[in-house]
Amino acid sequence: MKRVYLDNASTTALRPEVIQEMTKVLTEEYGNPSSTHSLGRSAKNILELSRKSIAKNLNATAQEIIFTSCGTEANNWILRSAVKDLKVKRIITSKIEHHAVLHTALALEKEYGIQVDYVSIKPNGEIDITDLVELLSQEKKTLVSLMHVNNETGTVLDLERIGRICQEHNVLFHSDTVQSIGKATIDLQAIPVDFIVASAHKFHGPKGVGFAFIRKNSGLQSLFFGGEQEKGLRAGTEALHQIAGMAKALEFSYNNLETDREHITELRNYLITQLEIEFPAFEINGTADGFYTVLNVLMPFSADKTAMILFHLDMKGIAVSRGSACQSGSIKPSHVLAEMLSNEDLKKPSLRISFSHFNTKEDIDMLIEALKTI
Ligand code: PLP
Repeated sequence: MKRVYLDNASTTALRPEVIQEMTKVLTEEYGNPSSTHSLGRSAKNILELSRKSIAKNLNATAQEIIFTSCGTEANNWILRSAVKDLKVKRIITSKIEHHAVLHTALALEKEYGIQVDYVSIKPNGEIDITDLVELLSQEKKTLVSLMHVNNETGTVLDLERIGRICQEHNVLFHSDTVQSIGKATIDLQAIPVDFIVASAHKFHGPKGVGFAFIRKNSGLQSLFFGGEQEKGLRAGTEALHQIAGMAKALEFSYNNLETDREHITELRNYLITQLEIEFPAFEINGTADGFYTVLNVLMPFSADKTAMILFHLDMKGIAVSRGSACQSGSIKPSHVLAEMLSNEDLKKPSLRISFSHFNTKEDIDMLIEALKTI
């Protein structure tokens, strides 16, 4: 059976070149980057070349890139150290953030008694900037944490605009850029953001590795106690093969950005056209001009189809995800869609279809054919 993978916001397939690079490092570069002998120095060289390459792609300096085990760790670290070490007393975030941010903010509220405020969300899933400015009128040491591209709906935040607003109000700005790194140009000299995070498995790199961009002189401190790795900001022997694979994946992503974006945008538009033809009553959750890698749609099926739709598609070899997570038989609505849809619509099946450059028009045709049998 031909498999159709349209769940690239969850994770992506590795590029063959990444596997090659990782295999080479695993086989030949087994030295510890902290060792002073030649094997260690060679490993250290790979580590620093990877850091430089990542920094160059984002127009940052190498020392501002700190390797972590994943995007979740990077988000946890930044928020926690901002409260613990930078004495942030308030986090302004939104209810549509990834749980790596939302649950961390809640934990910090409980542990440190900080204030957590949520910016209002417009019905199309965008942040209400007027509300953000209003929240910023309160005088309190604040960190704003708002994601760049929403992982469920693909709604995009204007990073530069929000960065300027934060700068004008003299507050820190963190953005979860896990869904946009490698898929959008991010110029860290031009965007006034203090912290961003990335996860390699979202851009055709390996799972279990990510990085944080920590702007110079931010004062952020380590979460872990241990060795002096990552300039003392992240103790633990570096996963060299993962890091080298991530750097290679990012390099390929940015080298192919324009062609991949064009190809994926064409597929996304083709899908919208086919849905308009076959299911004219479907609706887009978010905006039609959202980020090119994601399309979240409310299908015009009855609510009783909701529980089975993913299973049904999976039986036909199609991997997509739903706006709602099915947990042990009960249907828990997505916390993101819950902020945007009516209770009635929330019960109906929404699908998150997310693309990569590996997808083809045939994949979309197969999805449409399968949806016709629901
Ligand atoms: N933030 C966003 C927006 C995500 O989509 C994800 C992954 O699902 C994460 C954070 C977590 O990244 P990781 O899987 O590397 O922990």
